[in-house]
Amino acid sequence: MGNTFGGGGEESLYLSNGGTEAFIDVLMPAVSDLADDEWDYRFAALLTLQDQSVMGHGAVGFDLQDIAWGSIAVERARAKDFVLRAITLASSRHRWSELSYDPPFALDYLRRFKAMVESFVPSDDVHLVGGFPGPDERAVASCPQHRVLSALPRWEGCFLCTRLGQW
Ligand SMILES: [Zn+2]
Repeated sequence: MGNTFGGGGEESLYLSNGGTEAFIDVLMPAVSDLADDEWDYRFAALLTLQDQSVMGHGAVGFDLQDIAWGSIAVERARAKDFVLRAITLASSRHRWSELSYDPPFALDYLRRFKAMVESFVPSDDVHLVGGFPGPDERAVASCPQHRVLSALPRWEGCFLCTRLGQW
């Protein structure tokens, strides 16, 4: 059982449940540290929704075409650039030492996801329905213990808290 991260077309990244966990684990600290614009915190919220210990195993994943990239070209370009910068930072093993394990395939996941994002052309999000967290749902709280953005106060902890049972 696993989860699919779609590239808007035929391309997709299918990860096992454990692989999904590693993928989000390495991406979240980079996204948390780079987040600056409102959109970035909405993307962070989308990542918090990938927490299988809350959402259910094999019940997560998203498609790039379901992301609200922005209504005008300059917004879409900036949003896509943010995601690419986060992937690049994550690929430098940014804060991987804070994880309680070494994610052996994470670099490969990031490389494949990056290629998918690079080739994806975000379109106008005017007609998009649901899926992507709105401005009011953005992840603004930071877990004091793990220093990653979380869905606090809606959830009791960040993805590392739930994993490690440190509520
Ligand atoms: Zn935490």
